[in-house]
Amino acid sequence: MELRLYNTLTRSVEPFTPLEPGRVRMYTCGLTAYDYGHIGNFRTFVGVDILQRFLATQGYDVDSVMNITDVDDKMIARSSAAGRSLREYADFYAAAFTEDCQRLRIRPARHIVRATDFIPDMVAWIERLVASGHAYEREGSVYFRLASFPAYGRLSGKDLDGLQSGARVDVDDYAKEEARDFVLWKAWKEGEPFWESPWGKGRPGWHIECSVMAEKLLGAAAPQGSPQGTIDIHAGGTDLIFPHHENEIAQVEALTQAPFARYWVHMEFLLVNGEKMSKRLGNFYTVRDLMEKGYHPSAIRYLLASVPYRRQLNFTLEGLDQATSALERLRVFQDRIRRTPLPDTTDSGLNQAAAAASDAMVAALAENLNTAEALAAIFDLVRAANTALDAGHFGAGNRAPVQAVLDAFDEIFAVLAHDAPPASALSPEAVNQLLAEREAARRMRDWARADALRRQLDDAGVLVEDIKGGGGRWRWK
Ligand code: AMP
Ligand code: ZN
Repeated sequence: MELRLYNTLTRSVEPFTPLEPGRVRMYTCGLTAYDYGHIGNFRTFVGVDILQRFLATQGYDVDSVMNITDVDDKMIARSSAAGRSLREYADFYAAAFTEDCQRLRIRPARHIVRATDFIPDMVAWIERLVASGHAYEREGSVYFRLASFPAYGRLSGKDLDGLQSGARVDVDDYAKEEARDFVLWKAWKEGEPFWESPWGKGRPGWHIECSVMAEKLLGAAAPQGSPQGTIDIHAGGTDLIFPHHENEIAQVEALTQAPFARYWVHMEFLLVNGEKMSKRLGNFYTVRDLMEKGYHPSAIRYLLASVPYRRQLNFTLEGLDQATSALERLRVFQDRIRRTPLPDTTDSGLNQAAAAASDAMVAALAENLNTAEALAAIFDLVRAANTALDAGHFGAGNRAPVQAVLDAFDEIFAVLAHDAPPASALSPEAVNQLLAEREAARRMRDWARADALRRQLDDAGVLVEDIKGGGGRWRWK
């Protein structure tokens, strides 16, 4: 079924057709590796994963790239405070990111690239921008001359003239012709890591990294007859629209004269009490934080996936408890149809309902990835099938068709398999803490939470023996 996708560039939902039939070239702005990713970051990456999984189920070969930003101001400050090299520091958080992606069953991009592995390409691109008058050097730094690119602002709807020459397009504090110009190459400062360039020692700016990696890995392979340098989809969170993506467009299109990306896809925020979850506000949870509280990564993924990506999602632990229960219902149902001895019959109405649920799920996803409607279709089927099971109508001939719908669902949502988290996820202290929390939840009659905690313990290989009158002993299984 043809996907219809909201394109930030045109501000409308459009039929999606890649430049090359059957193949989608897609770039996603990844994590800045200066700390653990929080679940706000992962909302964006789960959203991207669902898009890519849906494209794959529709028969597309998705050639995907995700970058890891491994040099920036915060990383330099933090790595030197920690007495580590920048590379060592970035390696640690890049590995943690990979681990979190695995836990959340986010399929890795085909190419996961580190910015510092492409510095010569960035330098070459900046040289071309300088040669063509779109950039200039000042005191060893190089800036993009915004006045040379009148199309600036098309993505975000900001008007270039409205961007006063005093307005800053980035927060970098270096001398420049006009305050709105943004930095491409930052001159070296004492104590910072550096790379050599025609402008002396320095390092690339953040925006140029993505442009150059996207162009090198995807744009350069543009199919014959199409504009050179054009990729199909560029994705990230909505906070990247301006200035990051706007700057990426300027850097590329100033040289290629062709559209950089045809579809711009932006994921809405995960909020906490109405504010964006962010490192800066300190209102964030990492995947690890939530696992320590007894939640399973699959429930986190379920919650993040349950709201369509263009709607903001307010995060609460209660919401995560509900996601855990909803997921539990699906798993219990799956166990039931797998294990219940069934009569040798077929309820043909139920098989029709299964086909209808499958169609409704695909149709919902095809309409700009409406995951909430897709889930509703699955729960309708679960309800009908449970009723049939209770009434003894669910026959052996229903098992495979209903299971097939669950399989198709899980190909996209990827939440049903209940892989145990790594054994190292819980220390004995953490087990005691979880048991205490479970006890407290039971006293509050919060059964969903108590069950979630029990499952978490179970998954971590903990056997709990409840003692009459409350409390419990435990041992490793
Ligand atoms: P960063 O590491 O800050 O560059 O962010 C990595 C990705 O996470 C970017 O695509 C951001 O747009 C996205 N992001 C950051 N915070 C949130 C949030 N609260 N909700 C959704 N996406 C976010
Ligand atoms: Zn980027």
